[in-house]
Amino acid sequence: ENKLLEVDNLQVSFHTYAGEVKAVRGVSFHVNRGEALAIVGESGCGKSVTAQTIMKLIPMPPGKIKKGKVVFDGKEISKYTDRQMEKIRGKEISMIFQDPMTSLNPTMKVGKQIMEGLIKHQKMDKQKAKERAIEMLRLVGIPNPAKRAEQYPHEFSGGMRQRAMIAIALACNPKLLIADEPTTALDVTIQAQIIDLMQELQHKLNTAIIIITHDLGVVADIAQRIAVMYAGVVIESGTVDDIFYRPQHPYTWGLLQSVPRLDVKEDKRLVPIEGTPPDLIAPPKGCPFAARCDHAMKICKEQFPERTEIDDNHYVHCWLQHSMAPNVKNPIIEER
Ligand code: SF4
Ligand code: MG
Repeated sequence: ENKLLEVDNLQVSFHTYAGEVKAVRGVSFHVNRGEALAIVGESGCGKSVTAQTIMKLIPMPPGKIKKGKVVFDGKEISKYTDRQMEKIRGKEISMIFQDPMTSLNPTMKVGKQIMEGLIKHQKMDKQKAKERAIEMLRLVGIPNPAKRAEQYPHEFSGGMRQRAMIAIALACNPKLLIADEPTTALDVTIQAQIIDLMQELQHKLNTAIIIITHDLGVVADIAQRIAVMYAGVVIESGTVDDIFYRPQHPYTWGLLQSVPRLDVKEDKRLVPIEGTPPDLIAPPKGCPFAARCDHAMKICKEQFPERTEIDDNHYVHCWLQHSMAPNVKNPIIEER
């Protein structure tokens, strides 16, 4: 089968003193083998919680999967115990984070940290693991890999540390790499280099990637498909072209207008979306974007919009798709 990962109607909550925070409220998507999917949305939209749930990295309690399932390579891993997950993590699914310093061990040489997974999962002997570690450092574009393998994380620059993280993540040749804001902490030039590197490795190793970001601009080159999340739900998903050239959801319009772009006049760039996302302890029963949407109608506040298929693989949840809705000009299509 071509489908590597399937997330089906996933609902994840956190039980807090203030009440039940419904962080993920029925999210569905899939990732094919070797494909890159971007999950895009503002902070707090549930994208990281979704990723951490796939990896079983959220503490339960206070977290809880209320509904839905995660199927990876034919296995329903959302039912796995921590012990079973240990065997998957780092071997079949790896994850990298925004800040390598929080996931790299500051007291262990970088080469050793790459070797750990190889010894644990691939049962490699030390010598072989060491050779592979150096090969991985070379593969991620770190000069003098043999010397670098003997150094500690603090001797690496930010960009080099992120490369080392990628080397650790990919050492066991996982089928899926989940990258949560992998370039957010880096400056723009280094960001582009890391994205290029991930794209190169995706092709070379045929690794599927889920890249999670608040910045749509980052994913245009690397992703084949994009899922846009808002307030714990996917409000629109489609191919990169669907989302960049034919977006249908007002929130996606807003995201696109807040991406710095060179092909649009200065005064049209970087329009922030006004307002804040809803409280996920008491989420609105209608469209979660209604309070911030310029086109909100009466029904938007009353009923969650059903999924409309715009095209193969292009879906949107918005009442503007209803045949009775007024005709609203699509600002993204208009300006091109
Ligand atoms: Fe705006 Fe209504 Fe569409 Fe929500 S459903 S995005 S409020 S028009
Ligand atoms: Mg996050």
